[in-house]
Amino acid sequence: MSISKQPLISASPSGLRIYFVPLPSPGHVIPMIDIAKIFTKHGAECTLIMTPLNAARYESNIHRSGLHLVTFQFPSDTGLPVGCESADLLPSRKLFGHFRRVVDLLEQPFRELLRVNPPDAVVSDSFLLWTAVASAELNIPRYSFPVVSCFALSVERNLLFHRPQQNVTSDLDLFLVPGLPDQIYLTKCQLSETTLPDEKLIEFFERALEAEKATTGWVVNTFYELESPYIKHCERVTGKPVFHIGPVCLSGVSKEEIAERGHGKELAAVSERLLRWLDGRPAFSVVYVSFGSVSWLPKAQLKEIGFGLVESGVPFIWVVGGGDESDDVADEVSAIAGDAGQVVKGWAPQLAILGHISVGTFLTHCGWGAVTEATAVGKMMLTWPLFADQFYNEKFVVQVAEIGESMGAERGYIWGEEERTGVLLNRERVAEKVRWSLGPGAESMRKRAWEIGIEARKGGGKGGSSYESVECMMEDIRKHRGQRTEAGVHGETGDQH
Ligand code: UDP
Repeated sequence: MSISKQPLISASPSGLRIYFVPLPSPGHVIPMIDIAKIFTKHGAECTLIMTPLNAARYESNIHRSGLHLVTFQFPSDTGLPVGCESADLLPSRKLFGHFRRVVDLLEQPFRELLRVNPPDAVVSDSFLLWTAVASAELNIPRYSFPVVSCFALSVERNLLFHRPQQNVTSDLDLFLVPGLPDQIYLTKCQLSETTLPDEKLIEFFERALEAEKATTGWVVNTFYELESPYIKHCERVTGKPVFHIGPVCLSGVSKEEIAERGHGKELAAVSERLLRWLDGRPAFSVVYVSFGSVSWLPKAQLKEIGFGLVESGVPFIWVVGGGDESDDVADEVSAIAGDAGQVVKGWAPQLAILGHISVGTFLTHCGWGAVTEATAVGKMMLTWPLFADQFYNEKFVVQVAEIGESMGAERGYIWGEEERTGVLLNRERVAEKVRWSLGPGAESMRKRAWEIGIEARKGGGKGGSSYESVECMMEDIRKHRGQRTEAGVHGETGDQH
């Protein structure tokens, strides 16, 4: 492993230099780039830390925004296939645990970078516990980016501390999650893997709590007007400040930035084609369907979705993902739908599509990135969670924010066992819910979502809640820098300021 490129040492307007360390998976990298862009706009010098293939993948997103880059070689001879530098490229989801342990090997070059060229702060994915330890040793503030919402953080925390899930007999029995601002009921089937009694996960959680002690605060992709009770709840239960700076997808403003987000220049042509197709449809008439960057649905389920969309009679854009099996279904559905539907194989310019006025509903797996993108552009959702924090996000969207309707899936998929689980919802359900969501029955929900979108965009503007939260965090970093200078830490570590 080697540091292949040193960050530029330049005087930024704010005088602050921040390192951003994402977990290599699109749902984690994309918002981290957005966050770095936001801090750049507020005058900080921002450097992303990535491995070469990830750097190449997001190159246009990074350079367009004036971000700096440091690359660490991805560890080799680890048992992962060559080129698997991102979780979505793993041949099997079962390899994710191993992948995360390989990513942990980046601790060494990270420590070296901090020692040689210490920043004023580190913003790290919460999964990367070693960034907390390494930063604390040099007295550098480390802010944790959990990727999930404050609502999900609160639910998870209360499940781990109170363990109400242990008092039910069936996987489908409802139990109350104690101690939350709202009455939230869940079933065991809906819990994220981290709350299940698995020894390795419990051990990880214990280490995470240790890392949290060395963490300065949370940086969360949310905004005050969306989940203020849960922002406060998180601060109370973790004892750390929450900087609510989202929706971070609003960091990009130019058409190109939005069209190429998460991929690169080759996405621009797909984006243009889809936006032209959307231009020809009435406002709020189209359903956009996507299950994010790492979900895998069995062929039988894909067929039910595809044929359900055709049966609904509603114009649709459906992102099928890649792979031979899904390609077959994509071709079949595309041929039947004709011009009434667009089937996207692989990657879609999600934010550009969602932001188009013709899109009325987003049928989503409820990844928090997807949810925040829908709120940013004011679109209502049909929720179909599959794993991780997605069922919590569904609860939030449907019950707390009331900007979405559940598709009604009682359980999701266990990673790597999707084929065995088979079909969760059939085509009739898909057709019925999609039709309803674009009709008069969903009018008030559509309106609420639109109003939240207005709040979201206000929050990012000067004086808005998210804008001010970024300023607060920069102030916090300055305060820590002052304390370090007083303690003489700068001199010892060879600081560049
Ligand atoms: N995304 C995209 N195009 C796709 C699939 C995903 O732009 O075809 C983006 C999406 O906009 C979001 C991220 O990838 O920013 C996925 O994150 P999310 O939290 O929604 O779900 P995950 O993929 O982590 O399950």
